[in-house]
Amino acid sequence: MTLTLPFDNSYARLPDRFYARQSAVPVRDPGLIAVNAGLARALGLDPEALTTPEAVTSFAGNATPDGAEPLAQAYAGHQFGGWSPQLGDGRALLLGEILAPDGRRFDIQLKGSGPTPFSRRGDGRAWIGPVIREYIVSEAMAALGLPTTRALAAVTTGEPVWRESALPGAVLVRVASSHIRVGTFQYFAARQDTEALRLLTDHVIARHYPDAQTPLDLLDAVTAAQAHLIAGWMSFGFIHGVMNTDNMTISGETIDYGPCAFMDEYHPQKVFSSIDQYGRYAYGNQPRIAVWNLAQFASCLLPLMGEEEPAIEAATAAINRFPDLYEAEWLHSFRAKIGLSTEEDGDAALIEALLASMAEGGADFTRTFRGLSDGTAATEFADPEAFESWFNDWRARTAREADPKATMRAANPAFIPRNHRVEEAIRAAVTGDYAPFHRLNSILARPYDDQPDAIEYRAAPADDEIVTRTFCGT
Ligand code: AMP
Ligand code: MG
Repeated sequence: MTLTLPFDNSYARLPDRFYARQSAVPVRDPGLIAVNAGLARALGLDPEALTTPEAVTSFAGNATPDGAEPLAQAYAGHQFGGWSPQLGDGRALLLGEILAPDGRRFDIQLKGSGPTPFSRRGDGRAWIGPVIREYIVSEAMAALGLPTTRALAAVTTGEPVWRESALPGAVLVRVASSHIRVGTFQYFAARQDTEALRLLTDHVIARHYPDAQTPLDLLDAVTAAQAHLIAGWMSFGFIHGVMNTDNMTISGETIDYGPCAFMDEYHPQKVFSSIDQYGRYAYGNQPRIAVWNLAQFASCLLPLMGEEEPAIEAATAAINRFPDLYEAEWLHSFRAKIGLSTEEDGDAALIEALLASMAEGGADFTRTFRGLSDGTAATEFADPEAFESWFNDWRARTAREADPKATMRAANPAFIPRNHRVEEAIRAAVTGDYAPFHRLNSILARPYDDQPDAIEYRAAPADDEIVTRTFCGT
């Protein structure tokens, strides 16, 4: 018996040069870590059927599910600003697509499933750390309410993966509304393959932005989607860490949970990634990097936009909308975070003043905002007096709001995937103990609920628990 999923594989119907057909490379001893029952049901799948030996075998790559047409997608990208003409799925395979009961189309992808023609010098594998990490953080992102790829399941391979030492191998079963990236467009643009660009554009318009009529409409829509996403990241203190063009989706979903982090102590220039030496992808740089990436996307669309001069002008105008769109999204999110559902002129300055005193006072991002509705925000500041004058201004402003507390509680999570908790779950998983992983997932599934029995998960890390560096998921 093999696993059967209701596949309908539109990407596999695109021409051969979009991908390499490739099967997963079998592993020694597949074992189940987790199946995401809620997501399975939302996709119209039976969660029980995903925990059977057939399913686990398929997820580990030892069998191809009926109807799957596994392939490694071709893409290129700018990594830290440097151009790589050929990246592609080097450790992932698109099994196929399924249609959810609501009609939405989703990719089912294996990550860590063995080498592909795009692996370059890599082994095509993942160890359990990045698999656990992506599972936890991507599901937390979804529960917070931001667009993201999801985790449907995770399995172990029963084989070691060699990094600095031997580590247990694992595979993540990832779900996304697609895995098409800015880098997918760049791959064909760099090859001056205008026909492929046209096919890809038609494909993503049909799939993600059916209201778009033209490549320019697509650029507008992607610009708006990214403005929404990045403002959302900022509102939760999220640092993606590796915003290369191959890690920016066209759908507007967060993808690639490598060296990402939700910051504890707030600082606008915070960086976690061990390889981000110059802070290119620092917290406060994310909106600017999004514009840089969108400019790369726009330049790929130019050959489809008619005469050169007017096309460049129109594309530039489209990207130049980003700052206003982003500001509006940012202000909307942060207004809610301080309890404002009406708009007044001084609101942006009030928010900026709080952030400035948080940066100066070493305040915990999540605890400070949540503390506004709990009355504990002042305790997050090294010098509570620094907070006091802001507090008085804020009290005066919220006096003109109907229910600021309700607004804040819906906008400020009590629980985020704090780095030290994620690492704790990984350390246990390496020894075969998935209990901390499951507990963390169940808490993070309800980030806005108080959950008094999980109070310790709201805490900032103790001095000896602070994680200062995160690593790419290779
Ligand atoms: P990422 O850092 O996940 O954005 O990956 C960048 C590129 O490196 C992609 O083309 C990946 O497929 C590839 N890559 C990363 N790790 C591995 C690995 N262990 N084996 C093969 N390819 C990899
Ligand atoms: Mg990537």
